Amino acid sequence: MSAARTAERRDAATPLERTDHACFLVTVTAVGRPAPHVRRLTLAAPELGHLVLLGPDEFFGLLMPRTGQELPDLGVVRGPNPRPVLAGLPEEQRPDLRWYTVRAHRPGLGEVDVDVVVHGDAGPGSAWVRRARVGQVAAYQTGTACYRRGHGGHQVVVGDETAAPAVAAILEQLDDDVVPHVFLEVPSVREDLPGLPAPTRGSLTVLERGPGLPGSVLLPALAAADLPALTYAWVAGEQALAAEARRHLVHVRGMPRTAVYFCAYWVLGRPRG
Ligand SMILES: Cc1cc2nc3c(=O)[nH]c(=O)nc-3n(C[C@H](O)[C@H](O)[C@H](O)COP(=O)(O)OP(=O)(O)OC[C@H]3O[C@@H](n4cnc5c(N)ncnc54)[C@H](O)[C@@H]3O)c2cc1C
Repeated sequence: MSAARTAERRDAATPLERTDHACFLVTVTAVGRPAPHVRRLTLAAPELGHLVLLGPDEFFGLLMPRTGQELPDLGVVRGPNPRPVLAGLPEEQRPDLRWYTVRAHRPGLGEVDVDVVVHGDAGPGSAWVRRARVGQVAAYQTGTACYRRGHGGHQVVVGDETAAPAVAAILEQLDDDVVPHVFLEVPSVREDLPGLPAPTRGSLTVLERGPGLPGSVLLPALAAADLPALTYAWVAGEQALAAEARRHLVHVRGMPRTAVYFCAYWVLGRPRG
């Protein structure tokens, strides 16, 4: 995977393009609990030693065998999307697929860490991760990164608990000419948020949602914030939160659509898939 390239695409609102996709087996080598509702899995595979991450928010597909199931041969998967191959499998052989952020990458050890918010057994991702044990095998579908470098100045970074791993990595890897203004909403700081790096410039606003709807605390705070002219925005989290934050940045703050990346990381009340 050393040939990874970041072909510049249409604008800063689109993901980077990976040219060397792969789908391979990984083994769970550690399970941690950095916050009561967060599991940190370490996944290991020789292929992770060669993986070149394209940016701090790089994500991947985790293919999880269902209970009592062996993973099928995924060597036939080509490109970024394993769904067509999965769709061709008999139901009883089809693994579940969900998308997560690479929180840390240790190429020398062939390992990644992933921080997953667990929310009971309502979805296959949360259910599998809650029960994950050292030695279990899953598969890793390479993804890409979406955070764009090269936009110096004041940026806004907006996310919820599922975006916290990406927000933390963005803060750790900031370019020197970037001043971040971060708005992060989590149900509970104690329960849902492993430590975040403190930015040395800009601002970090962490908001507790409590039992309210995603965005119910963050969106008013974002709307009320006194922010300078913004060069770039990165927005991810629950669908309505992400869509409304983007709408505000474009229609109220006047940012060009092409300077605002946004992604629905999950959808309240239904599977994200
Ligand atoms: C690019 C990308 C990167 C992501 N990175 C991460 C990451 O690093 N860590 C992480 O935890 N998540 C991350 N997510 C979000 C994760 O993929 C979703 O939360 C996913 O829906 C979880 O799958 P599931 O099977 O648990 O639930 P689903 O099958 O998708 O949903 C089942 C039910 O659970 C609810 N639900 C789903 N997610 C949550 C949640 N987080 N809290 C409460 N209820 C929920 C849904 O509303 C639905 O009612 C990322 C998503 C994307 C697209």
